[in-house]
Amino acid sequence: MKVFLSTDMEGTAGVVAWEQCVGDGPQAEAGRRLLLAEVNAAIEGAVAGGATDVVVNDSHSTMRNLPADRLAGGASYVSGAHKPLYMMQGLDDSFGACLFVSYHGSVGAAAGLSHTYNPNAVIEARLDGRVTGEAGINALVAAHYGVPVVLVTGDRCACDETAALIPGVHSAVVKEHVSRVAAHSLHPELACELIKLQARAAVQTAADAPPPRFDPGVLELSVRTTDIAEAASWVRGVDRTGPRELRIHGDTHLGTYRSFCAAILLTRTVAEIR
Ligand SMILES: [Zn+2]
Repeated sequence: MKVFLSTDMEGTAGVVAWEQCVGDGPQAEAGRRLLLAEVNAAIEGAVAGGATDVVVNDSHSTMRNLPADRLAGGASYVSGAHKPLYMMQGLDDSFGACLFVSYHGSVGAAAGLSHTYNPNAVIEARLDGRVTGEAGINALVAAHYGVPVVLVTGDRCACDETAALIPGVHSAVVKEHVSRVAAHSLHPELACELIKLQARAAVQTAADAPPPRFDPGVLELSVRTTDIAEAASWVRGVDRTGPRELRIHGDTHLGTYRSFCAAILLTRTVAEIR
């Protein structure tokens, strides 16, 4: 079975501050080591559960946070910027399971380093009326290709938010929220053990897991400024429904996700203006 693994970074045990997950400083280097161990734990669990082929899509910041030669299980690696399907690049209908590793809580949630894609732009995202984070938005792509999302790892909030949208998803909670920049993390070795166990169970039962279902799969965004909303509305499939409100509903779930990614990319410069 082919397994797709999308990895973020803010949900890693021991990572609580931006310095640990952005840039090239010594703290970021240490953060990337912790992330690599968690990604490898998920790969090893997936392989133990029956994965024959693992594709890792690096979805965080520069999207090249991992040393390709140190990925476990002979996993292939999708890395680098300007990927059309962003956090879901590489997924298609040939996969049997999708894993989300080191995910974090949505913007507005009581969760460490909480945000939803761009913290300067998005102040809330809702999928069919329910507040969602990145896992829910990314699950649109899994739904399109009919691939079950079977595992989420990260902080408690990321796991709870994902389970609310995808009942039955396996989860590995590796840290508890204290504040947006503080957490109580499991020891990294124990976090990795938990991730490995859950990944194994998740992949073992993936054949019986349904893909995510969204009906109708409308994505609504509240954004920080009217300028962001204006620029986002230039994207096909994005309707402006209020001064700072957007509604995205493509012909397919994939179309919705593509319009969302285009809006995020297009509004980056505008969103930086304070
Ligand atoms: Zn993220």
